[in-house]
Amino acid sequence: MEGKLIIFSAPSGAGKTTIVKRLLEKYGDKIAFSISASTREPRAGEVDGKDYYFISKEEFLHRIAKKEFVEFEEVYSGTFYGTLRSEIERIWEKGKAVIFDIDVIGGLHLKRKFGDNALAIFVQPPTLDVLIDRLRGRGTDSEEKLKERIEKADKELAYADQFDTILKNDNLEDACNEASDLLVNFVK
Ligand code: 5GP
Repeated sequence: MEGKLIIFSAPSGAGKTTIVKRLLEKYGDKIAFSISASTREPRAGEVDGKDYYFISKEEFLHRIAKKEFVEFEEVYSGTFYGTLRSEIERIWEKGKAVIFDIDVIGGLHLKRKFGDNALAIFVQPPTLDVLIDRLRGRGTDSEEKLKERIEKADKELAYADQFDTILKNDNLEDACNEASDLLVNFVK
């Protein structure tokens, strides 16, 4: 059975992870999070099999060869992220819609693949400067990694128009409320 997919994409730091977490708390009976596979190191507090399936690059490449991914990408140089087909099916089997926190290119790949079954939402930060402040404030990345994230974010902002909807995140509460409305409308 093909179910529905709700895709949240944005540059890193735009607030999409927070919005997705809020929606999961509120609509856990209707939606479930697509846990991506990633080759990066877990951050403090992240749990394998909850935030990501943290796997080695070798295993990731092996799974690409076995065609286990619906989409995958080398999001940062040397670091792979991908959506496993088994993950989407696991969630659909429970009768729930799949919710994604995924980068911009990955989001557009999924939209192209699943068409009207997918709602692709671009989360837009107020300005690039605000985005940079948020990324710095996190304090989780080295200066070099931070620079890479900022350069990528700058490029990604140009893809907003290709999404079904642009969700402005100037104020987190408003953005969460708007995201709730979009979700409820789409999954009903
Ligand atoms: P982070 O390292 O901050 O958790 O994630 C880095 C970027 O990779 C974020 O924009 C995140 O949404 C994205 N990402 C996470 N999972 C996937 C995935 O399965 N596929 C793709 N293409 N990007 C992903």
